[in-house]
Amino acid sequence: MKEFKDPKKNIFYYYAIAMAVIILLNTFIMPSLLNPKVEEASYSQFLTMLGQDKLSQVYIDRAENKITFADKTKPEAKLYMTGIVADNDLVTRLNEAGVDYSSPIVEQASPMMQFLLSWILPIGIFMLLGNVLSKQMMKRMGGGMNAMQLGKSNARIYIQSETGIKFSDVAGQDEAKEALSEIVDFLHTPEKYAEIGAKLPKGALLVGPPGTGKTLLAKAVAGEANVPFFSISGSEFVEMFVGMGAAKIRDLFKQAEEKAPCIVFIDEIDTIGKKRESTGYGGGNDEREQTLNQLLAEMDGFDGKKGVVLLAATNRPEILDPALLRPGRFDRRIPVELPDLLGRVEILKVHIKKVKTDPGINLETVAKAAAGTSGADLANIINEAALRAVREGRKRVSQRDLEESIEVVLAGYEKKNRVLSDKEKLIVAYHEVGHAMVAAKQKESAPVHKITIIPRTSGALGYTMQVEEDEKFLMSKEEIENKIATLTAGRVTEEIVFGSITTGAANDIEQATKLARAMISRLGMSDEFGMVSFEQDVNPYLGGSLVSTGSAETGARIDRMTIELVKKQYNKAGDIIRDNLTKLHELAKHLYEHETLTGEEFMDILNAPPALPDAPKEEGTAEAPIADSGEAAES
Ligand code: ADP
Ligand code: MG
Ligand code: ZN
Repeated sequence: MKEFKDPKKNIFYYYAIAMAVIILLNTFIMPSLLNPKVEEASYSQFLTMLGQDKLSQVYIDRAENKITFADKTKPEAKLYMTGIVADNDLVTRLNEAGVDYSSPIVEQASPMMQFLLSWILPIGIFMLLGNVLSKQMMKRMGGGMNAMQLGKSNARIYIQSETGIKFSDVAGQDEAKEALSEIVDFLHTPEKYAEIGAKLPKGALLVGPPGTGKTLLAKAVAGEANVPFFSISGSEFVEMFVGMGAAKIRDLFKQAEEKAPCIVFIDEIDTIGKKRESTGYGGGNDEREQTLNQLLAEMDGFDGKKGVVLLAATNRPEILDPALLRPGRFDRRIPVELPDLLGRVEILKVHIKKVKTDPGINLETVAKAAAGTSGADLANIINEAALRAVREGRKRVSQRDLEESIEVVLAGYEKKNRVLSDKEKLIVAYHEVGHAMVAAKQKESAPVHKITIIPRTSGALGYTMQVEEDEKFLMSKEEIENKIATLTAGRVTEEIVFGSITTGAANDIEQATKLARAMISRLGMSDEFGMVSFEQDVNPYLGGSLVSTGSAETGARIDRMTIELVKKQYNKAGDIIRDNLTKLHELAKHLYEHETLTGEEFMDILNAPPALPDAPKEEGTAEAPIADSGEAAES
């Protein structure tokens, strides 16, 4: 840092050194470079050589009064020089001898040229270099200066014409749109509200899981309202210096008030709006707290009538500081939930417009299979489908592209190069068919949509996809129990067929445990506890994290009951599998060979009359390892 103290002084040194270098170059190196080794000779020697026809490269320089020439008989082109004696016949004689001669024109301008070359040019180059260097130096120092200045926020300004996003670009989310259209109306005609004396909520908080279109909705509000749109993301406040965040907030609101009516949108507000801890021992939290305090102060300060509407979005509302949610601040909450079947179809319709498709694409099927996905996932599915079409050299997206992409987005890319051994593939086939079988043989259970044993990068070796006919909002106790039975079915099948178990059920076990535990501790579905909750889901949007509120004793009992519940379903699944062993073998063989089974294929095989009794013998060849394993397990 020291040497940057005085930039002017630095530049001076630089030029001094540069000048010295140029002088040195000019006095020592340039002359020897410019003037090749020349030996002095007498004019008579020149004439003798002319007579002997030894001359070449003759240069007659009348201005300097000298002749340079070379001896062509000598191998190295040694130059000689002599003064010109008043000799009027020189040219005639040279012509007679047929010597090539010239009078260098360049040399005429040489003093000027030489001066240019050896002084002006280097100085110019050095000046240029010096300029660039000093600018860079300034920039480096200037950067530091800016950080110290607590400069202007880089809140990006979006103007309606630029985003161009309207409510029609946001599919589904009708409730959210309705709530937001009031804000749009207010921005259009604030007088209408002022007349009655109605004040619009200062801030609206968009709450929902990631990828449901919160950011999109905020942009649509700006697009519809035709007003400037200031957008800043909470993560942008994570700055190096204490006080920066607060300054940014101040600046943002100042800009906004100048541009009112307008919308200020703070995305991912949870990054700055986290609950303040009462035990703030300074340090890391100071900065965030200052930022939050500034935000609260600004929200109190600005007058809602002016037409600055504050929007914020978060997927973690539970961690926000209560002060942010007080009346007069973000007192309106707009839930932006995951889309239902209809919503998913609508979203797919919006995004399918962006790609070229085969005629007769059925988006409903796609939406059905993509249960639980967000708008962002659906947009991604369509893009993946388009990429797949390109990869396969087609010009249009097909239905198959779309259906394949669901799996890509939901379960990771197909891993073509990862090859299961035959034995593993067989185990996975039985495991998956087991799931499907138990799902199909229970009454209150979603139908099987697809079974596959193509490994995914997500780590899944295969999976069974069940799809509800209609969107479900309530699940009965029986349905949950059946789901647990279905989840355990993979493992049961492995045990029954192969007599040994594998790690393939890890994910099933996790899910089954979660469901069983929730039934007992939160959903009031156990006889023993009844309608009592011992655990709370504190973060429903991000996969959930449970907080236990019961005693250690109840905790232990919940554990035990969970184990029992899962065991009971495990046994039930085992019974179903044992009762349907013939069909199981048949289905597993089919899946093993084809790697994928659609729901219809599955049901066709399941409902077909049992295979002929001689079939197992046919299968007892090397080609059909299923029969082998099946027999081994049965014996
Ligand atoms: P969030 O802010 O809720 O995490 P975004 O608004 O950033 O989600 O959504 C990401 C992308 O997903 C959007 O740009 C859009 O392409 C798509 N998307 C999400 N929800 C919808 C929707 N309801 N309608 C249309 N597209 C949507
Ligand atoms: Mg967002
Ligand atoms: Zn499984």
